[in-house]
Amino acid sequence: MSEKILVIGESRDGVLRNVTFEAIAAAKKINADAEVVGVICGSENLNDLAQEMIYYGADRIVTVKNEKLTSYTSEGYGQAVLAVIEDENPYGIIMGHTAVGKDLTPKIASKLEVGLISDAVDIHVDGGQTVFTRPIYSGKAFEKKVITDGLLFATIRPNNIPALDRDESRSGNVEEKSVEISDLRTVIKAVLRKASEGVDLSEAKVVVAGGRGVKSADGFKPLYELAEVLGGAVGASRGACDADYCDYSLQIGQTGKVVTPDLYIAVGISGAIQHLAGMSNSKVIVAINKDPEANIFNVADYGIVGDLFEVVPMLTEEIKKLKG
Ligand code: FAD
Repeated sequence: MSEKILVIGESRDGVLRNVTFEAIAAAKKINADAEVVGVICGSENLNDLAQEMIYYGADRIVTVKNEKLTSYTSEGYGQAVLAVIEDENPYGIIMGHTAVGKDLTPKIASKLEVGLISDAVDIHVDGGQTVFTRPIYSGKAFEKKVITDGLLFATIRPNNIPALDRDESRSGNVEEKSVEISDLRTVIKAVLRKASEGVDLSEAKVVVAGGRGVKSADGFKPLYELAEVLGGAVGASRGACDADYCDYSLQIGQTGKVVTPDLYIAVGISGAIQHLAGMSNSKVIVAINKDPEANIFNVADYGIVGDLFEVVPMLTEEIKKLKG
């Protein structure tokens, strides 16, 4: 059996996503002695990204540089990553459970005719078997899965398996692999993004989420201020999105993003089951709601019963004072 585990790196705007480093840590959890081989695809800046992966624990990196890999397409990246897998013949492959990871990994699994465990939140070895824990029923229960035969292929949910410490003294080889990418049927002409509000919601350590109780787009301003002092991102309930207080890209829940930050502050959110599906696995949940019977208090670690328009600015001021 090969002693290599492949980690598929993912970058955005020339910067590796944090979940790439978490995937390296996940590979080490599977086998601390295995060689962790990172793979990075793109058309520029690949050596810098490779170096970062090495600082976070990868032993060796294979880069695939090609103009056709400038923007992500499952077709282009699929060909590049499959070529690396063929060369390296790893016994495990790990990638982040991001939009790209969710798109790319099933394609690779089907080409290789192997299984895929998606959205793992923990990995441990028990009696020589690698056990993957993943949420089911919208996070209300967890199942443990093992792959009894063949490739250990999994995606991991961001913010669940801590990355190793960055260590600039680490070194490793970076090898460029040339892959012939056939003409792509999908050509990305331009990527148009909504104005970014800073920290990426799905990877944020702190999320301040607003609901219909925020009452207007302007009502979100104090939430942005609180998120800023905490170095976090702003999210929303579908109630707030439906009411046009904010963009649907902020929606958290069953039909929105799933987040697991260290701290989730739910502001003016009632706690409908569909919302809880996207945030109930957050490490610490704080709820601010004027209704003491609101369901959100059933999942909150700390509850503040009060008017959000008074409580949120007060919190922001106090945190600013604490930070000096
Ligand atoms: P509300 O339920 O209206 O709650 C507003 C809260 O604000 C209340 O608890 C109120 O007490 C409080 N409040 C009001 N004023 C103040 C104030 N001044 N200070 C403090 N508190 C105040 N929802 C999601 O969020 N995400 C999803 O992904 C999602 N997917 C869905 C999928 C399906 C198929 C369906 C049917 C529904 C889905 N929903 C989802 C909708 C969900 O059922 C709820 O309707 C929605 O979450 C309610 O949003 P809310 O809590 O912001 O609004």
